[in-house]
Amino acid sequence: MTAADPPTRDPETGAETFTSTQPATGDVVGTHAVHGEADVAAAVARARTAAAEWEGLGFDGRGRALAAWRKLIARRASDLAEVVHAETGKPRADAWLEVLLTLDHLAWATRHAPKVLGRQRVSPGMLMANHAATIEYLPLGVVGVIGPWNYPVFTPMGSIAYALAAGNAVVFKPSEHTPGVGEWLGQSAAEAMELPGLLEVVTGFGPTGSALVASGVDKLAFTGSAATGRKVMAAAAATLTPVVMECGGKDAVIVDVDADLDAAADATVWGAMANAGQTCTGVERVYAHADVYDELVEKVVAIAKDVRPGIDPEADIGPMTMPSQLDVVRRHVADAVARGGRALLGGVDAVDDRYAQPTVLVDVPEDSSAVTEETFGPTVTIARVDSIDEAVERANATGYGLGATVFSKANGDEIARRLRTGMVSVNSVISFAAIPALPFGGVGESGFGRIHGPDGLREMTRPQAVARQRMRAPVALTSFRRTKATDAMVRRIVRRLHGG
Ligand code: NAD
Repeated sequence: MTAADPPTRDPETGAETFTSTQPATGDVVGTHAVHGEADVAAAVARARTAAAEWEGLGFDGRGRALAAWRKLIARRASDLAEVVHAETGKPRADAWLEVLLTLDHLAWATRHAPKVLGRQRVSPGMLMANHAATIEYLPLGVVGVIGPWNYPVFTPMGSIAYALAAGNAVVFKPSEHTPGVGEWLGQSAAEAMELPGLLEVVTGFGPTGSALVASGVDKLAFTGSAATGRKVMAAAAATLTPVVMECGGKDAVIVDVDADLDAAADATVWGAMANAGQTCTGVERVYAHADVYDELVEKVVAIAKDVRPGIDPEADIGPMTMPSQLDVVRRHVADAVARGGRALLGGVDAVDDRYAQPTVLVDVPEDSSAVTEETFGPTVTIARVDSIDEAVERANATGYGLGATVFSKANGDEIARRLRTGMVSVNSVISFAAIPALPFGGVGESGFGRIHGPDGLREMTRPQAVARQRMRAPVALTSFRRTKATDAMVRRIVRRLHGG
């Protein structure tokens, strides 16, 4: 049985299992437990015990443990890349890149946690000058992390690494398509950090995820589709469990008249087709100024035609990891073509039952599903616009708002500010994800809350504000012993300070 099939039940023990498979061949990669409510509750209980000890280690102790884990992952990077390759089908070189970026984030989160989260003094202000005021970002306890399959290391580690660095224990539910990657992370964490329960991994399908949402974790970091995100949020509402939502996108590239067109074409093709297009911040749409449109289209097609899917070591992209996604890609391309769009490369026939060939679409109506819905395949639409105002308007005409790319020599920052997204790359593509100091996340259908950067660390904490009285105030404001003279003084201060 594979992740796409129902689980198998052992007739003697009653235990349910499922297998993960290599998407190009269907070969079984591993067999994993389907964890139910009781297993999830036990994992959360173990994590809660670990959380108390982990918090007690302080930043220094945690920093040493996380450094040991980072080194162990680096030493065994080829093992991890192999599991990623086996379960997703992506090229090994891409899996290595994913591991490298993950380690960079883990190092950043570890190194910056003390400064970002540690106790800081703030000014108490004139009225409360007799107080010392401090803010400190304390761990929440246990953070639940639910992850997708497309970047099975990098994406969940955006939550896991930052949650651990902030002093929490974690219960992680990897995608049913990549359970082996999840278990690899759990086992390596246990070996390197020697604190049982610190990173618990529960495997299974949607119901295992639902059990984690309902388990009483202190926060739930979800990465996946907006449709599942809605269910997770609705379920979390029952227990007022706070959530971070990292959902899908429909990211656009805007190409201005002064853009470096070779760079823009290269970035468009890589952004749209790397990982077979299965990237939340992948390029799905391009809006190119009419003056450069023809040249850009020609360059994009010339690069994209050499992008070759396969499972052999020389392949540029792998198969589609999730077979059902092939239907989505086929449907979007068919809709675009049926409604007047033209496939300059690829097309409906370019999608078989394992692979999607690179597809470049032009003249696609803006209300086609190829433009409005997340395709998550190696396809891209390119549209001609008469002005950058029009490009911005069309780029923003989506419920999603994750990332975007701008190619412009003179006006990159200015165009970036006008885009309703959480992240923008200027004259490069998806580069924000590789800069650990930058927060990652979106707006609208793409979700809310942030992973990565200082915001990602704080997301996994509860800010605690402390006001400590250092000396008695000359006049008591917050007491029933307040006098008429004090009340008169308050009225005078209001007018003097605020111009009343
Ligand atoms: P998905 O929504 O199908 O599944 C995500 C996870 O949720 C899986 O682990 C799944 O088992 C679990 N799940 C399913 N039903 C659940 C339920 N009712 N309660 C709790 N958990 C449940 O998404 P996917 O196909 O694994 O991932 C692809 C999607 O993820 C795309 O939309 C992509 O854009 C998005 N994504 C977003 C980011 C980001 O950071 N914004 C990163 C990577 C992927």
